[in-house]
Amino acid sequence: MTKPSYVRVIIDRAIHRELDYAVPESLRSRIGVGSRVRVPFREKSALATVVGVMEQSEAKGIRPIDAVVGEAPILSEQLLELGRWISTYYCCPIETVMRSVLPQVIRRAEVGWKKQLFVQPGRQPDNEELEKLRKRAPRQAELLEAILRLEAPVRASQLLRQVSLDNQTLRALVKRGLVEMREEAVVRDPHADEQFVATSNLILNQEQTRALEEITQALDSPEKSRPILLHGVTGSGKTEIYLQAIRAALNRGCTAIVLVPEISLTPQTVERFKGRFADVQDAVAVLHSHLSEGERHDEWHKIHSGRARIVIGARSAVFAPLKNLGLIVVDEEHETTYKQEEAPRYHARDIAIVRAKIEKCVAVLGSATPSLESYHNAAIGKYRLVTLTQRIDEKQMPLMRVVDLRQERRKQKSATILSEKLRIAIADRLEKREQTILFLNRRGFSTSLLCSSCGEARNCPNCSVALTFHRYPAVAGRLSCHLCGHTAAVPKKCPACGQDALIYAGFGTERVESTVSQIFPKAVVRRMDADSMTRKEAYRETLRNFRTGKIDILVGTQMIAKGLHFPNVTLVGIINADLALHLPDFRAGERTFQLLTQVAGRAGRGETSGEVFVQTYTPFSPSIQFARHHDFAGYFQQELEFRERCGFPPFKHAVLITVRSPHEGRAKLSAQTLQRRLKEALAYSAEAAPEPEAPSGAPTSRKPLGLPSLKAAAKAGPPEFILGDATPAPLEKLQSQFRFHILLRGEAIMHLSRLVRETVDKLPVPEDVIVTVDVDPYQLL
Ligand SMILES: [Zn+2]
Ligand SMILES: [Zn+2]
Repeated sequence: MTKPSYVRVIIDRAIHRELDYAVPESLRSRIGVGSRVRVPFREKSALATVVGVMEQSEAKGIRPIDAVVGEAPILSEQLLELGRWISTYYCCPIETVMRSVLPQVIRRAEVGWKKQLFVQPGRQPDNEELEKLRKRAPRQAELLEAILRLEAPVRASQLLRQVSLDNQTLRALVKRGLVEMREEAVVRDPHADEQFVATSNLILNQEQTRALEEITQALDSPEKSRPILLHGVTGSGKTEIYLQAIRAALNRGCTAIVLVPEISLTPQTVERFKGRFADVQDAVAVLHSHLSEGERHDEWHKIHSGRARIVIGARSAVFAPLKNLGLIVVDEEHETTYKQEEAPRYHARDIAIVRAKIEKCVAVLGSATPSLESYHNAAIGKYRLVTLTQRIDEKQMPLMRVVDLRQERRKQKSATILSEKLRIAIADRLEKREQTILFLNRRGFSTSLLCSSCGEARNCPNCSVALTFHRYPAVAGRLSCHLCGHTAAVPKKCPACGQDALIYAGFGTERVESTVSQIFPKAVVRRMDADSMTRKEAYRETLRNFRTGKIDILVGTQMIAKGLHFPNVTLVGIINADLALHLPDFRAGERTFQLLTQVAGRAGRGETSGEVFVQTYTPFSPSIQFARHHDFAGYFQQELEFRERCGFPPFKHAVLITVRSPHEGRAKLSAQTLQRRLKEALAYSAEAAPEPEAPSGAPTSRKPLGLPSLKAAAKAGPPEFILGDATPAPLEKLQSQFRFHILLRGEAIMHLSRLVRETVDKLPVPEDVIVTVDVDPYQLL
């Protein structure tokens, strides 16, 4: 290997440029692509990542690098290639991408291994010396004898604790030369105190066996394989397939990544993986957001050094620095939490597919309710579709009953929390000592405080949303904003009109909990949502108590919708299925369908079959009807038709540009200017494009959200790009910032991304205006 004379680096902080530096002779043997270096930049020194090594450089005024940080290059060429791809696709500077690819604790190089002092015997004392010590310093003698009995060096702190002696005694022995101490790096293992019981493979049913075969065949010729979409109904045993597929990858000398949504990365999940691979227990690394910096550092190096061969983690684990990667599994691939909502705004599932392509390994996407994007990719042959139609042990799918809340309302004359049918069903379960889950995707007690005289709602002063009334202790009896955390006291009278006419409206999980407790005073009711689960232990404890039957009814938000497995739950009530359905988002229907299917999947996982009650004001909406019949294919088909007709993903990519500022006028003006420039750039690029099909003139502009007019779509034919007007975002004000949206849609996403990047870069914006670009957005509010 030739030693590099020059390197090209990206500086952690600079924007959009790669710079060349010379490598001093003394550093040449230690540097390579992926090395971390310290370089002079402007008048300061900066940390940077080497992205290329050269024998020559054309650049002028080249300066030498100051130092190499750490011993080995920490970034593989493949991960670097992935980083560049993300930068282009997601319209994001490479330095920003690197912040995700390399965790901060690794980039900064300040957090190192945890060092601990180990003790071992030193100079051998003779009997006379020992005798003297026993008389004059009995404690030193006691400690020395303990150390002489040691078979291996032991942690100083641990030993002193065992013999109940202090540090001073130890230091005296060291001074005499009778004991030696040395520093050694120890690994911080977040799961060190836990015991994992070894498990062996479960017997697969026919469908599972076939699915596993598909994966192992792909492992044998990864370069020829397509990504596999594993569509298996809830309870069809997908995790067991992953476990055996990982074993197959290890047997072939490869490594594996398993991505799970953060919310599913429960102790239960970790246990399942660590237990199965107990024979290579150290080989399983877990990456999640609760790790301390030190733990993250150690897990990362454990992976990078090749000691860990399996990585389980949330979104960012897709960048785990494994070598010889054989398999990437993305569980619950439809989950929107795989999308990062800050720059780089990548989607981990899509990154997994790209990484698999770069590393020539197998990608498996699994879900009970695949995203339309993935299902469509399978339909057009880009992915290989494998279906699991049966629950393991041939358990029945739960029976779904739709309760029409409009009729209930006539009977009860107020907003219904529990319909009569659901109430009877709960009573029946309590009688049989079976468990119930009640699901509502909204926190709080009352979701708004209205004035019945003038109609004013109490809104957050910083955001354009109503304040929620809470009863739980942390903000007891106060109003709070779920977006920015602002809290306020409940006014006695309406601040707008002065009337004593305030009423609470809308309800959240707290209200459901209290209503259910009132109706069933003997039942043990617990709530599980972001408010009640602020402590990590609270979450574990509630789950344990529910599992062991100490809780009869569990009320919760989406926290309880995912992957939890409770054999004794035979009833699931969805308190209001319409909540997600009416969001101004083209994915609203898809999300509702997925949520209903996932929540319903919690019922009947044991011996008794389950029943699900779906309460809704729109009983005939397609999402609800198809979910009711467990008809994914039917739902998929009608939803795809809708998306195609309206030019939404997966048929077109979307790019959402948000322009925000504390000053409304400046935000609006910048958004309008940007929209106009995009329009010009698009028209220019359409003219410049050689395709005869390219539309002439300005592309049709449409409202960014909701249903565009079908007539316009038909008249215009399939336009290359659809550029929306600059409009106030559905959430007009957030954290004291006024927000405007521009939605751009088109097929050629790389082209579109570049065009947006160039236009945004050239846009002169006032200092307090911020422009963000989200490619393939999931958050349209
Ligand atoms: Zn009023
Ligand atoms: Zn707010």
